[in-house]
Amino acid sequence: MAMKEFKAESKRLLDLMINSIYTHREIFLRELISNSSDAMDKLYFKSLTDDKLSLSKGDLRIFISTDKEKRLLTIQDNGIGMTKEELEDNLGTIAQSGSREFKSENETGEDVNIIGQFGVGFYSAFMVSDNVTVISRSYGSEQAYRWESSGADGYEINPCEKEDLGTTVILKIKESTGEHNYDEFLEQYRIQSIVKKYSDYIRYPIVMKMERSKLKEGTGVDGKDPEYDTHIEEETLNSMIPLWRKAKSEAGEDELNNFYKEKFMDYENPLKSILSKTEGAATYNALLYIPAKAPYNYYSKDYEKGLQLYSSGVLIMDKCSDLLPDHFSFVKGLVDSEDLSLNISREMLQHDRQLKIIAKSIEKKIKSELDKMLVSEREEYEKFFSVFGLQLKFGLYNNYGMDKETVQDLIMFVSSLDNKLVTLKEYVSRMKDEQKFIYYAAGESVSRIEHLPQTELVKDKGFEILYMTDDIDEFALQMIREYDGKQFKSVSAGDLDLDTDEEKEDLKKQNEDNKELFELMKESLDGKVAGIRLSGRLKSHPVCLSSEGHISLEMEKVLSKMPGSGDVKAERVLEINSAHPIFTTLKTLHDKDKDKLKTYTQLLYSQALLIEGISIEDPVAFSNAVCGLMV
Ligand code: ADP
Repeated sequence: MAMKEFKAESKRLLDLMINSIYTHREIFLRELISNSSDAMDKLYFKSLTDDKLSLSKGDLRIFISTDKEKRLLTIQDNGIGMTKEELEDNLGTIAQSGSREFKSENETGEDVNIIGQFGVGFYSAFMVSDNVTVISRSYGSEQAYRWESSGADGYEINPCEKEDLGTTVILKIKESTGEHNYDEFLEQYRIQSIVKKYSDYIRYPIVMKMERSKLKEGTGVDGKDPEYDTHIEEETLNSMIPLWRKAKSEAGEDELNNFYKEKFMDYENPLKSILSKTEGAATYNALLYIPAKAPYNYYSKDYEKGLQLYSSGVLIMDKCSDLLPDHFSFVKGLVDSEDLSLNISREMLQHDRQLKIIAKSIEKKIKSELDKMLVSEREEYEKFFSVFGLQLKFGLYNNYGMDKETVQDLIMFVSSLDNKLVTLKEYVSRMKDEQKFIYYAAGESVSRIEHLPQTELVKDKGFEILYMTDDIDEFALQMIREYDGKQFKSVSAGDLDLDTDEEKEDLKKQNEDNKELFELMKESLDGKVAGIRLSGRLKSHPVCLSSEGHISLEMEKVLSKMPGSGDVKAERVLEINSAHPIFTTLKTLHDKDKDKLKTYTQLLYSQALLIEGISIEDPVAFSNAVCGLMV
């Protein structure tokens, strides 16, 4: 058969592999072994339903051999094999999932990184070989085929002989150059260590003929020089115990981290690995990870949550979303249970009672791990919270607060006391005896909130304020409603309930005395405010805005950004500081110059809006009015 060209994308990937400057070339072996393991999975899976195929798991194995002289490295499996068409389709194009990402990533020019990021599979063989031959006989076919390629020029497929089912991949290892050593891939000890490093948990034996030497009997003692006998032994290189079945003490941190990086395509080690074995109502092994960084699409609807689901070591679903609640959607990992049937369909799985029990148990596990981290590894926890805290708060808000028991103790806010993160529990534990509420203030940023006039009095009383800087914060608080019997109170709320009875009486009286003034001022604002009154909360600032009802000014801001939310408005109240000279001015104007009173009121209202970070409706009129006062 004539030489065929690779499809365009494959060619690019191939070029990349051939000219790779990637330092971890050794991963080609992992890729080829994984392919073999998948092929054996497929054959085994077939044998479960196909009477003609009788097979026991023990029959399946991967065989590796080296030939130093001919510079050949061979990886042989007795898996499902490939037909001629499959050889063409699978090895002539990038038929794998990573290809789409590869394309978009490659456009950014970060050629080297993609190799580590995505399983680039079969083509990685070209990082170390001049020529690759694949001989394969597919299950159900008598004829075998040989696929051969020396790289970018193309490939050939021809019929050939092969007795057993399966695939043999033969690599002609490149000659070493001054820069790169390729000979290492012909050394059995090196191969052994690569297999251990990357493929130890492959569930089929990976066997290699190893040259062993033994001290000849009678030599090396009594002054005789030692002499050695060499012989060949077949050895299984991998332990075959999946990492997640190992005991915590057996699985080292490096192993857990490497597994995470390979399987979940991350460059960074995870922040936490959770390896656990659970027995009881649900029996399963779980290996869970909390990533150190959020995936780039995490806070978008493209992100798919889920854990890999295995039934007795065989993968049955890649992203089982039912295993993770939304508030923990950042967790990656896998679950392996003997309680689930291998042939269970996706639809059935959703209603599976066992799966629900496992999911609940996993949620508890994650929660307890986070609780632990919060107490004993505060710095780590804060790192975690800075990345995924937002999701926890979304979780609180979703389901109308049904998950609040799980989540409320995991969230944190910046505190007015020291600008550090604090949990609700910590806040409540240091509340003053006379303090009734959990106070909070919402705004764009900590520095903006710190300057809000509304915070003055609360701080003055020595009460701590929680700063809410995420859009979701106040909405999430509404779902918690109260914590430890204490209600939440915004420093901008209409009634702060901080004054003594005497002060309250006094304020009430003053408000009544100036009723007419405030009515007139309110009129001049054309219905923009629900009321104007003297403030009990202002100390040095002239004015501020507060709100009545369930919608705060911050919530109004958030809602107005959402499409389709209508015109939700907070009930605004303009508060005036009775101790400020401006109040005297207003009173005087009320008697002498009502027009000016109107202008001043509008200016004060605009100022209050600006302080809140709300844009004013007519900035031109505002600046003209200010200028009018100056000239
Ligand atoms: P991936 O494994 O990510 O799908 P590869 O480029 O490594 O991508 O392989 C492409 C396809 O070729 C595989 O999906 C599989 O169908 C087939 N293949 C590769 N190696 C083997 C093998 N040893 N036995 C059977 N099929 C194989």
